Amino acid sequence: MFAKIKVRVMSEEIEKIKCLIIGSGPAGFTAAIYASRANMAPVLYQGMQPGGQLTTTTEVDNFPGYPDGVNGPEMMMQLEAQAKRFDADIRSGYITKVDFTGPVHKVWVDGDKEIHANTIVISTGASAKYLGLESEQHYLKIGGGVSACAVCDGFFYKGQETVIVGAGDSACEEAHYLSNICTKVTMLVRRDEFRASKIMAERVKNTENITILFNTETEEVLGDDNGVTGARTKNNQTGEVMDIPCTGFFVAIGHNPNTEIFKPYIEMDETGYIINTPGSSKTNVAGVFVSGDAADKDYRQAVTAAGTGCMAALDAERYLAALGH
Ligand code: NDP
Repeated sequence: MFAKIKVRVMSEEIEKIKCLIIGSGPAGFTAAIYASRANMAPVLYQGMQPGGQLTTTTEVDNFPGYPDGVNGPEMMMQLEAQAKRFDADIRSGYITKVDFTGPVHKVWVDGDKEIHANTIVISTGASAKYLGLESEQHYLKIGGGVSACAVCDGFFYKGQETVIVGAGDSACEEAHYLSNICTKVTMLVRRDEFRASKIMAERVKNTENITILFNTETEEVLGDDNGVTGARTKNNQTGEVMDIPCTGFFVAIGHNPNTEIFKPYIEMDETGYIINTPGSSKTNVAGVFVSGDAADKDYRQAVTAAGTGCMAALDAERYLAALGH
């Protein structure tokens, strides 16, 4: 008798849905807009950082449809409102565990609530790595000259001097991008060599207005009430300390895809980016789709994330239709 009651209570607690979207950046909200309009009654969990990486950006100038630019957090609120207009169920909460072994995908929210979903759209994004200096975090928070995306924010430093930290392909690509906009770019490389591919490293070495400082680390991001004014650096071989004037301080030391909980089930590359079937949002698990930066280490743009969010919802809709739902 007791066992029966327990089973009844347990089954009441499990919510069964057609489509669960994990993550609330441009990929997640776009998937929610498409899935709602396709009558899939999607539930979207916002995760740790509602709105995703764009909520740490000030002005977004490169998302089509905003001729005057748009504030990052404001754009995310608009995407959320658009998804809600079609009755997408947007919830606070963090997915702490998944089980993708069966035909129905099991997910636990905040270590407690259990959901069974026919389809899952993973749009958990990636997080830029920062140095972790107090001064860096201060200017990042106030939107005063620290950025982890040159393509997003470089334009604001047009005709000015910038510093960029990192020595991988991203740092080289971003330094080159900045060199076309800024008068001078100083690249801080912590070792005596690049990690980037030879061709990318050669390109920055051969760019006139890029200065490369090897064996150089950042001690502090300098600034005043208006924002960044420079970077205090230290040569880790000679101990020499130098202040480099700049108005933009860019950090390009890599990203971490937020994919840890999917590892036991979903195929990923060695750095944790989810591997999708080329040309679609399909993962190795039927009914589980991926969109946005969780599967993209090359483009990482709001507009590309939104595009793949649309693909994931369409792929999920077709999958459900094939199952007769
Ligand atoms: P990577 O991990 O390749 O490089 C990170 C860089 O940041 C390294 O040079 C590392 O230094 C440096 N770094 C890390 N922590 C610190 C720190 N605390 N202080 C100073 N420097 C630090 O990341 P990327 O984002 O550059 O690239 C990720 C992947 O994406 C790579 O596989 C890359 O090839 C790929 N990619 C390809 C592109 C292309 O082909 N067009 C463009 C962009 C990325 P150290 O070398 O000393 O460890």
